Amino acid sequence: AKARGRQRVEVHDPTRTDAGVDRLRLLGELRRGIAAGELRLHHQPLVRLADGGLCGVEALVRWQHPVRGLLPPSEFIELAERSGLVRELGAWVLEAAVEQAAAWARDAEMPDVEVSVNLSARQLTDPALVGTVTAALARHGLDPRLLVLEVTETALVNDPDVAAAALAALKGLGIGIAVDDFGTGYASLTYLQQFPVDELKIDRSFVSGLGTSDGDSAIVTTCVQLAHAVGVRAVAEGVETQAQRDALRDMGCDVGQGYLFSRPVDADALREWVVGRRA
Ligand code: C2E
Ligand code: CA
Ligand code: CA
Ligand code: CA
Repeated sequence: AKARGRQRVEVHDPTRTDAGVDRLRLLGELRRGIAAGELRLHHQPLVRLADGGLCGVEALVRWQHPVRGLLPPSEFIELAERSGLVRELGAWVLEAAVEQAAAWARDAEMPDVEVSVNLSARQLTDPALVGTVTAALARHGLDPRLLVLEVTETALVNDPDVAAAALAALKGLGIGIAVDDFGTGYASLTYLQQFPVDELKIDRSFVSGLGTSDGDSAIVTTCVQLAHAVGVRAVAEGVETQAQRDALRDMGCDVGQGYLFSRPVDADALREWVVGRRA
């Protein structure tokens, strides 16, 4: 019965086979799409909660698929990570984000905002990373202080020694480091002290419960205090309501990001948002 069960899975389970074929097809398409210049960056503002001022933007990748339209990262990032294609994808994102940040730095209408870029775990442990970043900064003449790299707790915990060395080298260039999705992984106080981090981004899942869940409010308060205890900035992700913004400001959270301020938008729309807010 056991053998038969296994055979059934291999031979007759159509969902499994189809999913595998779909993944392989999508992977091939993504490889082609990257080479064909189909990736895009959208940007979402980071806002100082004390005075509402813009302090940065997060660059978020999209794929302008010729048939399926503009695809969010949930449709392809995991696949890219599992296959290793995330190295090419990540290199494109870094280059495009640095180029954009340098263009805004030259743009008299735009304040010199920090641009945050997401790094996958694989990128962080890639020995070529520091060289890639250095080359991109030099190529576009960007002040390294205007670049922030976001890493997840998981990436840090997986390979702490390699991660610590990479972060130290990046810090040495003058780049900022943020811990993304904070609170969902296993980073402890020890980790925070061991890694040269500038910013904790409190995960959206906790921020969304502010005001309705006592547990979430306690977690967010603790994260803010933890950030300040180790001397780093606290950033709240996924701020959607004024009540959440007010609660965050009251607990001393430094920066907010979320649909309340703006969805991620393309570079032209971001510029309009910035210039329009000042007018
Ligand atoms: P993340 O780094 O946590 O990015 C924040 C995500 O939350 C973005 O989703 C953003 O659109 C969304 N978001 C922002 N504010 C709100 C809000 O108020 N409410 C809600 N419901 N959502 C909000 P997005 O752009 O779909 O990206 C999803 C994830 O994909 C990112 O999560 C990040 O893990 C990954 N990702 C995006 N771009 C890149 C990239 O260039 N490289 C890598 N390695 N990963 C990326
Ligand atoms: Ca400027
Ligand atoms: Ca992020
Ligand atoms: Ca996040």
